[in-house]
Amino acid sequence: MDFLQPSSWDEALAVRAERPDALPIAGGTDVMVELNFDRRRPAALLDLTRVDELRAWSVDDGVVRLGAGVPYARVISELGDRLPGLAMAARTVGSPQIRVRGTVGGNLGSASPAGDAHPPLLAAGAVVEAESAARGTRMIPVAEFYTGVKRNALEPDELIAAVLVPRAAGPQQFCKVGTRNAMVIAVSAFACALHPDRRAVGTGIGSAAPTPRRAPEAETFLAGELEAAGLWESRAELPETLARAFGERVAAAASPIDDVRGSAAYRLHSLSVMARRAATWAWNDYRKAA
Ligand SMILES: Cc1cc2nc3c(=O)[nH]c(=O)nc-3n(C[C@H](O)[C@H](O)[C@H](O)COP(=O)(O)OP(=O)(O)OC[C@H]3O[C@@H](n4cnc5c(N)ncnc54)[C@H](O)[C@@H]3O)c2cc1C
Repeated sequence: MDFLQPSSWDEALAVRAERPDALPIAGGTDVMVELNFDRRRPAALLDLTRVDELRAWSVDDGVVRLGAGVPYARVISELGDRLPGLAMAARTVGSPQIRVRGTVGGNLGSASPAGDAHPPLLAAGAVVEAESAARGTRMIPVAEFYTGVKRNALEPDELIAAVLVPRAAGPQQFCKVGTRNAMVIAVSAFACALHPDRRAVGTGIGSAAPTPRRAPEAETFLAGELEAAGLWESRAELPETLARAFGERVAAAASPIDDVRGSAAYRLHSLSVMARRAATWAWNDYRKAA
């Protein structure tokens, strides 16, 4: 197996174009498991850890450009105020060792329906910045990035440069149910984001469909009810019936399966409970921020 180790982004893109048989590796927390269990035997590995550009983040016009190689530990320590939903999800990933190595770009590369970064990225309306040497940069809304179970929209000559995440304009929440409290793959997960600036609600569902996905009807329903009742201005308590109806609509957007981690019925039930709670917690934060 060849080991290709570019030291700049341009070199990485050139190698990607020349060697489409090379598997990119960032933190390696998914790739090394695949190699160790002999599920994959690529002709070459394309190591991205020496590409400094991937390990940087910046803010421009209210949008955080998070380099694909920024690990979870740095999302938690450096971006908790700007990207609270993603930071909450990052805190639940694996163990401290996994959070130091594992990256959001790697989560997107694997595109597992259970990846914890996906629900908050969906709720925030993130955009994936992909790039190739031949065609330059391509912006892919994250909701269009997941194309099937562990499949994504990247072309064979493309790499993920970064993910663009709007800085939180309001409260965000992330919930995850697992078979234990830590080091666990989600049985189901849910993220929501309130966008008071445009009076909108964002959602993201994990581990309850072939791909991570939004719950668009639930988003429109909750935003519309908040508007109709004048709650964005009054910041009155979120009615329990409204939170419950939102939870039911979130569950209706899922299409889970029975598997070793949980039944489809449990996934639907847990999603409706998480969505009800997450919306209530986010709304309470919005009220407190007044
Ligand atoms: C013990 C353990 C616990 C875990 N717990 C969790 C958990 O709780 N939640 C969770 O979501 N995940 C978990 N994971 C999975 C893993 O840590 C995450 O998916 C992580 O985000 C992968 O990031 P990485 O940088 O290690 O990716 P890598 O393993 O390096 O790569 C993953 C995939 O992304 C591709 N890739 C990486 N970077 C790029 C790029 N810039 N452009 C294009 N493709 C790229 C690779 O080719 C590969 O297909 C766990 C893994 C382990 C081993």
